[in-house]
Amino acid sequence: MPETILVVEDELSLRETLAYNLQKAGYLVNTTGNGREALRLGRELQPDLILLDIMLPELDGLEITRILRQDSSVPILMLTARDDEIDRVLGLELGADDYLTKPFSMRELLARVKAMLRRSQYAQDSPGAESPEKSFLVFEDLVLDPIRHEVRLRGEAIRLKPKEYDLLLYLAEHAGQVFSREQILARVWGWDYVGGTRTVDVHIRWIRAKIEEDSANPVRLVTVRGAGYRFDG
Ligand code: CA
Repeated sequence: MPETILVVEDELSLRETLAYNLQKAGYLVNTTGNGREALRLGRELQPDLILLDIMLPELDGLEITRILRQDSSVPILMLTARDDEIDRVLGLELGADDYLTKPFSMRELLARVKAMLRRSQYAQDSPGAESPEKSFLVFEDLVLDPIRHEVRLRGEAIRLKPKEYDLLLYLAEHAGQVFSREQILARVWGWDYVGGTRTVDVHIRWIRAKIEEDSANPVRLVTVRGAGYRFDG
């Protein structure tokens, strides 16, 4: 079965170019240029991936992501036009999995799409398959349960996206050890990941927003200046 991709882009020529190239690459493609329609299609079609422009009529990409994320973990590749939009994507903890800044090459877009689909396929195929015998990792009021893929803070389950969970688990299993962004990318995303190290920073920020008392002054997931990140528990 070919994978289905929902392309949400209000600029007609770009929408058609995206659809053409994705179809040529073997994907089933649905398109829309309207935010409200995008939300409806995202729910009805259950695509394998959504390419989502930010500035859209009726409902913008950030809002669409926020709503879809309430009950879906579909990979979302956000298309941004301006730097201030990137800041919004990064600053808001809203659940896009990756982003591309316009203008981008079709080659880059296809590489990202392919990598995202592969990661999400892998996540579905092997939940917890790596070592089912792992027991709880306990850091005071923060508890990671690798068997159930669950993280609890003060007894409450925290919603983490798959990559946030993978990253947190990796660092927690190596608590006290410093990892560079490149090491983290290689170990959590895999060597073939084509995105940049900024992806790591973004995910760290998202995780902090969920597990830190004050995410501006993190004490669990700390930045080691000039070196990378360390989980202190
Ligand atoms: Ca737009």
